Amino acid sequence: MKRIGLITSGGDAPGMNAVIRAVTRSAVVENIEVYGFLRGYAGILDKDYKKFNYSDVGGIMERGGTILRTARVPEFKVPEVRKKAADNLKDLGIDALVIIGGEGSLTGGKLLSDEQGIPVVGVPGSIDNDIAYTDMSIGVDTCLNTVIDVLQKLKDTASSHERAFIVEVMGRTSGYIALMTGLAIGAEAVIIPEIPTDYDSLAEKMWEERKRGKINSIVVVAEGSASAYTVARHLENRIGFETRITILGHIQRGGSPSAFDRILASRMGNESVKSLIEGEFNVMIGLSRNDLIRTPIEKVLAEKKSLDLEIVKLANILS
Ligand code: ADP
Repeated sequence: MKRIGLITSGGDAPGMNAVIRAVTRSAVVENIEVYGFLRGYAGILDKDYKKFNYSDVGGIMERGGTILRTARVPEFKVPEVRKKAADNLKDLGIDALVIIGGEGSLTGGKLLSDEQGIPVVGVPGSIDNDIAYTDMSIGVDTCLNTVIDVLQKLKDTASSHERAFIVEVMGRTSGYIALMTGLAIGAEAVIIPEIPTDYDSLAEKMWEERKRGKINSIVVVAEGSASAYTVARHLENRIGFETRITILGHIQRGGSPSAFDRILASRMGNESVKSLIEGEFNVMIGLSRNDLIRTPIEKVLAEKKSLDLEIVKLANILS
């Protein structure tokens, strides 16, 4: 292993820079060169890269986003385009590729490896925590902290005005962010794609709590289940008190990574290089019971990570 490529791809997540730093430094101390390609698979197709030395990745751990930038490159689904990417990597003398990204990025990597024989290793970066074979993906913890911070602030104003706030958070197919942040701030309810919503009983619960003296209500909605506007319409008809809507949007992707994400990113970045040095290719690095594990990307992609329904019950009991 003499030279490796590195990309961040798909949706950005806080902590990606900490992975870039860990991969680069772990490789450089083993005399492996690192080429960081810009904008995910687009940089490989355009041969747009930067050579990273040890000092080039100083001072980036604490920065949100990704210095390599990221992009969605739909044409990568076309086999001839992947062949071009593989040819470019071979031209540049790249022996293997580290891919930091979500399921889509890992799918691209798996195909690059299956069809073109490029050795790859994946590092899970996704704020949705929807990637199997890892307890946590990079960026999840920071995102949860950001959302909790905002929800807590909304709770203050909700109490002052005795209002109900309907807050829409990210999660196209997974209610993870809504559920965990709802649990962490004691939301009245979380509305998630995994579970159908019974608006009558939710409205009744909100009324009961008002009668018991609760002066604020926060309902957290995952974007993939319903829009906050739809939820507000359903509830206002039933509860008869004012609601306010907040859509958090891209604020959820930004910010300096938390301690947890910095540590996870540092460990996973280092492990990805170890895996390449040891010749264990086409695996994704994951976290399981605080140990790092390597799982074939194929196996990771074949499994859908499901929500822990016990936590749904817990959120209901405690709110
Ligand atoms: P994420 O990696 O965060 O899940 P996307 O699903 O947008 O984000 O995927 C990121 C990129 O990975 C895409 O823009 C594309 O370049 C590549 N990719 C995604 N799905 C595939 C696929 N089925 N085949 C080949 N490449 C893919």
